[in-house]
Amino acid sequence: SGPESKNEPDTESDTAEFCPGFKDVDAFVKRGLGGVVAATKASGLLPQAGDEFDFYRSFPGFQDFCAVQGERLLHCMSQLMQHHGCRSFMKDRSKLTGLEERFDLVIESNDVILEKVGIMLDEASGVTRSQPVMPAGYQPPRIVVSSWNRKGNDHSGETFHLLHAKNIQRPQLKFKEKVDNSNTPFVAKIFVKPNAIKPLPSCELTERPEDLDVPPALADFIHQLRTQEHMDDMFSHPYQYELEHLVMPEILRSRPDPQLYKPLAETSCTFIETLEDLVALNEKLAKTTEFAVDLEHHSYRSFLGITCLMQISTREEDFIIDTLELRSEMYILNESFTDPTIVKVFHGADSDIEWLQKDFGVYVVNMFDTHHAARSLNLGRNSLDHLLKLYCSVDSNKRYQLADWRIRPLPEEMLKYAQADTHYLLYVYDRVRADLFDAANGQSNLIQVVWSKSKDLCLKKYVKPIFTEESYMELHRKQKKSFNSQQLVAFRLLFSWRDKLAREEDESTGYVLPNHMMMKIAEELPKEPQGIIACCNPTPPLVRQQINELHQLIKQAREIPLLKVSEVLSGFILCSSESTLFGPHDTSHVSESDLMELSLQVILLFLLKEDEGVGNSGHLTVAQQKACSILESFENPFRMYLPSKDIHISKNAKYDPSTKIYEISNRWKLQSIEKQQKEAQAKQEAKKQAKKAKGIYRLEVCTPAGPVGPIKVSCVVGLIFSVACGSWKPAHCRQEWDEARLKRINLRIKE
Ligand code: AMP
Ligand code: MN
Ligand code: ZN
Repeated sequence: SGPESKNEPDTESDTAEFCPGFKDVDAFVKRGLGGVVAATKASGLLPQAGDEFDFYRSFPGFQDFCAVQGERLLHCMSQLMQHHGCRSFMKDRSKLTGLEERFDLVIESNDVILEKVGIMLDEASGVTRSQPVMPAGYQPPRIVVSSWNRKGNDHSGETFHLLHAKNIQRPQLKFKEKVDNSNTPFVAKIFVKPNAIKPLPSCELTERPEDLDVPPALADFIHQLRTQEHMDDMFSHPYQYELEHLVMPEILRSRPDPQLYKPLAETSCTFIETLEDLVALNEKLAKTTEFAVDLEHHSYRSFLGITCLMQISTREEDFIIDTLELRSEMYILNESFTDPTIVKVFHGADSDIEWLQKDFGVYVVNMFDTHHAARSLNLGRNSLDHLLKLYCSVDSNKRYQLADWRIRPLPEEMLKYAQADTHYLLYVYDRVRADLFDAANGQSNLIQVVWSKSKDLCLKKYVKPIFTEESYMELHRKQKKSFNSQQLVAFRLLFSWRDKLAREEDESTGYVLPNHMMMKIAEELPKEPQGIIACCNPTPPLVRQQINELHQLIKQAREIPLLKVSEVLSGFILCSSESTLFGPHDTSHVSESDLMELSLQVILLFLLKEDEGVGNSGHLTVAQQKACSILESFENPFRMYLPSKDIHISKNAKYDPSTKIYEISNRWKLQSIEKQQKEAQAKQEAKKQAKKAKGIYRLEVCTPAGPVGPIKVSCVVGLIFSVACGSWKPAHCRQEWDEARLKRINLRIKE
């Protein structure tokens, strides 16, 4: 805004144009929103992949047009992503083959952008995110208003009281089965399997066949196979077989006659909080051909989250189950939930499917998701609100979506809200099916698509958040901040402190220490405890309580040699030539090939150090010494491949059965800690033996500057190297560690 006058028509506040072409935020938002709506509409009109698209694509004109527009869009998206400091697909197109990878990048960028927006909104309102809202009329015993909702402007139409949840008794205390927050993979909570075609795997492991009359090697092999099989079963989806063999029920093949819902006021709504009532409900459900389901969940004051309520609607009645009270009994509903002849109608079941598994061991076989139906119908908006407005002319208000659903007794207002979430759903189910039918010219193929997508959702397995030594880097990469070595160590220590405490106290990580506060502490590295408190406004209770521990962590981080790191990738560092990497004492100019060699040395040293092969700095070159000093402050990125008592699963790779990480982590996570320790010991011993004997590989390394080496490494290192250079996919490397660089380094492993 310029102070000089430019004959503007408006008065005082006028001259400040919000940004070129827009007089204020509203104008900007309006234009932006218009653009988004238009784009969404247009994309909804595009021919669907699979059927129409293939037809259109047979015309060269269409193909050319798509190619040009596609390029433009990709370029535009790439620029946006780069602007936000995200990885983008333009830079490294050659290595990104699949649509899936691109899609992941988009999701990742969306996360980054939304996280930023979230932080900004939090800061603007002075409120911690994920704080539950409460109904206006609700009178909690004591509301701690103070700093938790300062700046809250009470004159907004709807007033939500923010409630410090310490006023609510922790439902976890009453759970018959304690919550398992341990850093181990989730094991299905299912002991009885109704409607089974394939029975549950038996829990007992068969005896080791050594005792049988077979050669020991064969016995071992058999045992391994059996154990593997048993473990695979243990971690597989209990209804995978049934779901994969499920065919769409006949009733979905014809156009339905929509059956109108009963008026909400005239429908009985039963609150279920005893086993007796639950059993009665289960029997009622078993006699239906379809019913609607929804859940309400709380995630702020619990590490894994708690399902607080289940709403069920039949054509006649509504039910609300107190799932805090009946948590351990909910499994009996598997009888109707896995019955393949009963359609279970959900809206947006992604989370519901996971919550049912996580909290109750309940699975769904034969589901119809109206959210997917809305998407197939290209309605533009796919929310339940929108469907209710469209089909039932009901103005729902999602105001309690984020309410604290743990409170008991539930206020009438919240019960009504919960009931409305499923009350209309069966009618919506009828209507979307009719529309899908009409959209497909009286065929059931669109319904089939929706039903299949719903089935795929049912196959989803709940995955527990696992802490690895890499987890903090995942979060760090999402923030744009570049940290020096001390800040990064602080961030790592805070991250692991937070994870540990959250698991122990059964609180969400956001409750223990929100991301933006953690970033701030790591960035500022306060010398005094008071400084840490000052980074957190409002100060989370556990931060206040453990302020001395936190102070020690920051002190520890400050003792690390200060290195300016321009880019940090999961423990690797590659440096750009303009940064003074080695502090004031080192004035040498670093050339490109030096850098190449240096980064290579860093990696080699990571490996060699791990292998205790070197350590004698007297024999090191200058570059190696530099690498050594850098090394001190970072974790070995290959540690996950080495024996350890911790469980390591890389988040990106753990679902991809083709990756080494998947294979290795899978093998390891299945072993008990004890066994792992024993194995690690045995391996250590074997390694020493192997070293003494031979098994030494010579590693010949060529850099653009010429060959380095040969370097002697043990077989373990050689193996790791082959993993790093061969089968490791670029997607699992950090961005700079791409194929091109690996090629340039041109590693050859020679025995
Ligand atoms: P719904 O299916 O809309 O009834 O939502 C079910 C649960 O999902 C709620 O109880 C919340 O715990 C959670 N939830 C829904 N919407 C959001 C959101 N926008 N942000 C965070 N959690 C949400
Ligand atoms: Mn829902
Ligand atoms: Zn709901």
